[in-house]
Amino acid sequence: MIRPIIQSPSLLGQVSEPILIEEFDAYHSLFQDLGDTLHNNGRKSMAAPQIGILKRIIGFYNSEMEAVNILVNPELNAPISQWQDELYESCISLPTHSAVLRVRWHDISINAVMPGGDKIQLTFSGSTARALQHSLDHLNGIILTDPI
Ligand SMILES: [Zn+2]
Repeated sequence: MIRPIIQSPSLLGQVSEPILIEEFDAYHSLFQDLGDTLHNNGRKSMAAPQIGILKRIIGFYNSEMEAVNILVNPELNAPISQWQDELYESCISLPTHSAVLRVRWHDISINAVMPGGDKIQLTFSGSTARALQHSLDHLNGIILTDPI
């Protein structure tokens, strides 16, 4: 089910909570909804707070698999290269704001749990790495208009 995109600064400014693995079954419709909403909006990545759920869940478009993947409790690891890019970035939750320059790591590694309960480590580069760093910021209540 496609959910509306939240634009409330007071909600977007909050830190999301992790999900316990025993609770995953109760979240499967939310995992699906986050993927549906991401797909419908044509985004590379989207965080659960953007659909109003303050839980540590991110959906991203996996271009190799041509499918949306869900990451639960994702954590950014130490940088895997020192390469950084400074590019303009926009946010679907801030439609009235113009793009903001943001420095991001070019290559990242993320530890997360898949909806089925498997722990994984994934690496990303370029625009997908940027989108995921943006989504991780959302889990920590950080939005583009916040000072760095
Ligand atoms: Zn955003």
